[in-house]
Amino acid sequence: MAERGVDVVVVGAGIVGLGIAWTAAQSGRTVAFVDPKPATGATYAAAGMLAPVSELHYQEEDLLELTLASAALYPAFVESLGVRPAEAGYRSTRTITVGADAADRRSLADLREVQRGHGLAVEPLTIREARAMEPLLSPQLSSAFNIERDHQVDPRRLAARLQSAIDGASSRNRWTHDHAIRQSAVGLRHERPADAASRVTGVILADGSTVAAGEVVVANGLAAGQLGGLPDWLALPLRPVYGDIIRLRVPGHLRPLLTATIRGLVRGVPVYLVPRDDGTVVLGATQREHGSAAVSAGGVHQLLRDAQVLVPAVAELELIEVTARARPGTPDNAPLLGRVADGPGQPASDIPGLIIATGFFRHGVLLTPIAAQHCLHLLDGTADGRWARFRPDRFSRPMASEPPFSRTPQSSPHTPKESARD
Ligand SMILES: Cc1cc2nc3c(=O)[nH]c(=O)nc-3n(C[C@H](O)[C@H](O)[C@H](O)COP(=O)(O)OP(=O)(O)OC[C@H]3O[C@@H](n4cnc5c(N)ncnc54)[C@H](O)[C@@H]3O)c2cc1C
Repeated sequence: MAERGVDVVVVGAGIVGLGIAWTAAQSGRTVAFVDPKPATGATYAAAGMLAPVSELHYQEEDLLELTLASAALYPAFVESLGVRPAEAGYRSTRTITVGADAADRRSLADLREVQRGHGLAVEPLTIREARAMEPLLSPQLSSAFNIERDHQVDPRRLAARLQSAIDGASSRNRWTHDHAIRQSAVGLRHERPADAASRVTGVILADGSTVAAGEVVVANGLAAGQLGGLPDWLALPLRPVYGDIIRLRVPGHLRPLLTATIRGLVRGVPVYLVPRDDGTVVLGATQREHGSAAVSAGGVHQLLRDAQVLVPAVAELELIEVTARARPGTPDNAPLLGRVADGPGQPASDIPGLIIATGFFRHGVLLTPIAAQHCLHLLDGTADGRWARFRPDRFSRPMASEPPFSRTPQSSPHTPKESARD
């Protein structure tokens, strides 16, 4: 069995795994990531809204501190890649939220009260003011709000830049190991093979070879719980929440279709349009808890119909792609992020060499910088105690029998319809 040795191996090279690998590499550690098809999971579909304010959902307020912290890290995270922000797909343009009818206006006004209650700036606009900013918005809208601090990034471009940056670290630091391993990981290697609570010493790959590592970060999204060698008692309650999303090209005579991200409510159902620098627009996204992983014709129809209520010129765009992927959801819609206790009872210490980073649900792109920073701090032994509430073992341990956010927002009678989509 061939064996390679690194300081940190990351299982899964979606946006989260790549962000963690890059941040660890910047700290001077030797790093490898393992993924048969990097950046083809949820990352491939994501719209890339960096929207802690407009994404604030009722009953998810506990996540707000994490999403705001991550949004604040984004400019430096992008700058660390050594390219212009636009080359990494980052745009610090604003978000405008709009309502179609009177009920949508009331929903957005109610949400604004919650947002303001958290000290978040959401500025009402007249429709005339909104159309002065974005002339192709429909004149028939019922309401509009300006959110200056919600931005966007193109996740595909960012993932590509992260991979290039890790390649660059490999050349600069003359790494002799393969840092981009195109295989599936099948299990964790432990110091004592029969003891899943013993130190994790590496990863076992599909071809039977191993990657020896001082630390293993499990960041393979929905598949995290399937990795061999995780403790039996550890529950990683991940569920696929499918989303359909559309990419459209704007013909020359309509460019720019939009400059801001537009998030709308149309008869209570959310829809968004995210303009990219390359003259395309991302239109999303449905949210399906059950059913098939394939694109839903009904979902696509609904997205196109609702988007035209907000921006009628959508009907003139060229359809270039329809994609469906699964968001890695958790019972409380918060990530599973941190170290894992070495047993279900108390007192327990953490399993050395193991970090889990999954369950990022609707926010994985937004949360990548904070996930990467938190993992680095865990590696350094300087973790921020505020994020202990997102520990991956919170659904497994007696102390966590009442998880921090034990409610399921989708099932709450008080949850407005906008939680039905991103
Ligand atoms: C339609 C849609 C729109 C979205 N919009 C937004 C948005 O606007 N803003 C936002 O912040 N988030 C958004 N999200 C959510 C975001 O996409 C996810 O939270 C994020 O991509 C999660 O990243 P990840 O790296 O954890 O997982 P993924 O991107 O799914 O990556 C997991 C990786 O693990 C690999 N893998 C799986 N099993 C193994 C194995 N055994 N060994 C090795 N590798 C393995 C896969 O190949 C994959 O590359 C959206 C999601 C969807 C579906």
